[in-house]
Amino acid sequence: MKNIILTGDRPTGNLHIGHYVGSLKTRIELQNQGDFEQYYVMIADTQALTDNANNVDKVKNNIIQVAIDYISAGIDPNKVCIFIQSMVPELFEITAYFMNLVSVSRLQRNPTIKDEIKQRGFDKSLPIGFLNYPVSQAADILAFNANIVPVGEDQIPVIEVTREVAHSFNNCYGQIFREVKGLLPQTKICARLPGLDGKLKMSKSAGNSIYLCDDEKTVREKIMSAYTDPGHIKVSDPGKIEGNIVFAYLDAFCRDEHFQKYLPEYQNLKQLKEHYKKGGLGDVKVKLFLNSIVNELLSPIREKRKQLEENIDDVYQILFDGSLKARAAAQQTLAKMKDAMGLDYKKLQNK
Ligand code: ATP
Ligand code: MG
Repeated sequence: MKNIILTGDRPTGNLHIGHYVGSLKTRIELQNQGDFEQYYVMIADTQALTDNANNVDKVKNNIIQVAIDYISAGIDPNKVCIFIQSMVPELFEITAYFMNLVSVSRLQRNPTIKDEIKQRGFDKSLPIGFLNYPVSQAADILAFNANIVPVGEDQIPVIEVTREVAHSFNNCYGQIFREVKGLLPQTKICARLPGLDGKLKMSKSAGNSIYLCDDEKTVREKIMSAYTDPGHIKVSDPGKIEGNIVFAYLDAFCRDEHFQKYLPEYQNLKQLKEHYKKGGLGDVKVKLFLNSIVNELLSPIREKRKQLEENIDDVYQILFDGSLKARAAAQQTLAKMKDAMGLDYKKLQNK
């Protein structure tokens, strides 16, 4: 069986440059390689509600924003089925059957879930839906019999739940699902891009992001205020690279040709780092270099976004058509699952 790819994002805000290197870039490469039978990208509105129950408008309004981000970054809706999670209700029936195959303690021990609970202050008032989101994500993936899931590093423990659910289901009711693999970007820094604050990963919910839709001025302001090395006060001071966000972003985005274009007195990143460590290289120079690189990446994305905003109905149509297509596929899997489980009430239907 050929590859089926599925991935997605929570519509909790616009997509950021962490999404770009962590997942969007891999998605676009896979799309262009064409080695797949089906390719789905899901906007996970129901999952977003698990920690935004009082903020339905935010989630709803961000659906179209995320869709615009996808297409402007290079996802081609002619090759990829973009759909909205809540428009495929079968996913929730599948979730219900999967919930019986996972223990509460297994979810509570999941390192990503543990971190996210802490970050959201859910220690004492954890919504069941939030704890359950890895199970619901298993349904999102397995409903399409996906085997490749391009993600950032934080999602690897969550995908492990999908793998366990698939095994349990196969053991319990018969072989239906195949092995699922989370596909990480090639470098560690891209798999978990840190936020501008230098503390958490870049995240829509943490307010520490450079968004794909940020204009030039905003990007510059954000980069100029990014966390570097607090001990690097004078230009002549030796500077630290570890934990320095500007160098972390250069690791993720900088290529040798950027030096020829924007900073020809250096040949490569290694040389720039050496100089910074030795002393004599100021933060502002490095930040301005990074700013040129990020704006070069974002400039065509901004242009495409403008065009899409002028034809917003086309984007809604893409989401509507994609959701119908995804629903038809999920219905087939659900029927197969119920058959395997012996959950057929055909006799009742015939009465
Ligand atoms: P939220 O704060 O609402 O959880 P988020 O910024 O974490 O938003 P998600 O929608 O949860 O974004 O994640 C979508 C995809 O992007 C996932 O595959 C996730 O692993 C990846 N991703 C998110 N943040 C980063 C990051 N900083 N670096 C690399 N990949 C990331
Ligand atoms: Mg997240």
